Amino acid sequence: MADDAERGKAPTRPATRQVRGPGATLTAERGWQYAPAPESREIVSIEPEYGLFVDGAFVPAGSGRTFATVNPATEEPIAQIATADAADVDRAVAAARTAFEQTWGPMPGAERAKYLYRIARILQERSREFAVLESIDNGKPIKETRDVDIPLAAAHFFYYAGWADKLEYAGFGADPRPLGVAGQVIPWNFPLLMAAWKLAPALAAGNTCLLKPAETTPLTALLLAEVCQQAELPPGVVNVLTGAGETGAAVVAHPGIDKVAFTGSTEVGIAIAEAVAGTGKKLTLELGGKAANVVFDDAPVEQAIEGIVNGIFFNQGHVCCAGSRLLVQESVADHVVDRLRRRLTTLRLGDPLDKNTDIGAINSRQQLDKITELSAAGEAEGAHRWSPPCELPKKGYWFAPTVFTGVSQSHRIAREEIFGPVLSVLTFRTPEEAVTKANNTPYGLSAGVWTEKGSRILWMAQRMRAGVVWANTYNRFDPASPFGGYRESGFGREGGRHGLAAYLDV
Ligand code: NDP
Repeated sequence: MADDAERGKAPTRPATRQVRGPGATLTAERGWQYAPAPESREIVSIEPEYGLFVDGAFVPAGSGRTFATVNPATEEPIAQIATADAADVDRAVAAARTAFEQTWGPMPGAERAKYLYRIARILQERSREFAVLESIDNGKPIKETRDVDIPLAAAHFFYYAGWADKLEYAGFGADPRPLGVAGQVIPWNFPLLMAAWKLAPALAAGNTCLLKPAETTPLTALLLAEVCQQAELPPGVVNVLTGAGETGAAVVAHPGIDKVAFTGSTEVGIAIAEAVAGTGKKLTLELGGKAANVVFDDAPVEQAIEGIVNGIFFNQGHVCCAGSRLLVQESVADHVVDRLRRRLTTLRLGDPLDKNTDIGAINSRQQLDKITELSAAGEAEGAHRWSPPCELPKKGYWFAPTVFTGVSQSHRIAREEIFGPVLSVLTFRTPEEAVTKANNTPYGLSAGVWTEKGSRILWMAQRMRAGVVWANTYNRFDPASPFGGYRESGFGREGGRHGLAAYLDV
């Protein structure tokens, strides 16, 4: 069955048939099909051009340079975005410093909280607008932006609003002080949510911010800037500087920045650590992962299948904590893989704005090339590749959900972060072997364990070297719960009380 879809052969599953839908060919089992259920894009008005958000206003970049952001599902340009250079960063740092010293820093926590509550409520009120915009700019399915990204972003503002006037009770001393101006560089996989993870604790603690969204997904950060205006946040408290990696590097390098927070690749994280070393700036890094999702023979199989699917196919696998290595106990491996394949034939890939879509577009051509290259390496190294029958839309960046079996620990697909909808399946016989294999990675961000025994969950959680261990669930997030890794997954925690420490002088 390997690669039927990609090689254009007829699928071998007799019960499965292809059904044409708008923009994509969907696969339906047992003969039924879904009518298209597209979300209207009319709710959001997209400008042809966007400036930088500096000192409370949208302004053009000093250089006048712009770049296009592209809809990954159609490859059509959406809007032109200003490119911030070092001079723009300088202006934004000056505005953030003034705001820190004159308004936001001296403001009582209870007053800061009101602004954060206001932002949270506006996010809720405009959630549909944000969800549609995020799907258009990122390529992720509307059901995920609507049900996960946007509600969680609002939840982070609500949660940290609650801390703003209680910092002295957070366990960091009687009068914990903010750091000053924070430079925050975020990736494209959860654009609004990552902005919320960065901004909400920083603002609650009394810092002012420069946010650099990813080049391919700037639009919801710019809409969030508009929300800051709507909430009448004082000018300079939040600044949004769009651009590519050079803009991020200029933010990180600016001497007026007191704190750098970065989420992205380990490679760029290392470059940032080098740039910051010796400057006295505080740093937190949330980098990549290659998480093990461990399924024991006593696990509830149907629930585990949902957890495996959620672990690696949620957000097209563009998730740093994705359960990209499935470790399954040998005695149940065939059964689990068989059930998993059956489940994958029911996933619908296509138009991100269709409410029935499970798998949307890959965020960029560059990322698609990386996933394609690593998957080819998996085959070349001898693993067995399988995808459900799934015809990909002709335009846009798409990759069929893919499962590799017969994977060994030395394979690149078992070692490197693919950051796409690609699962590598390995087996184990004993709990000790599961732990050894789970920990056989330079990363240490997350892990999952599926078993009916509570004692085994605790035994595994104590031994797996990961910042987060999910038990009988996967990819669960809550603003009250700290998240972060160690080793090559970075350091520092986001979320919860721990997330405040990153923005306080403690
Ligand atoms: P990057 O780490 O390059 O990008 C993350 C952010 O950093 C973006 O805003 C990026 O800008 C910016 N940036 C890039 N270079 C610099 C620099 N020298 N100094 C400061 N900021 C910089 O991730 P990519 O988007 O290039 O993805 C590459 C790989 O990284 C993926 O294939 C995936 O494996 C991994 N990744 C991991 C993530 C995670 O959460 N763990 C998130 C995203 C990617 P710009 O967008 O313009 O490049």
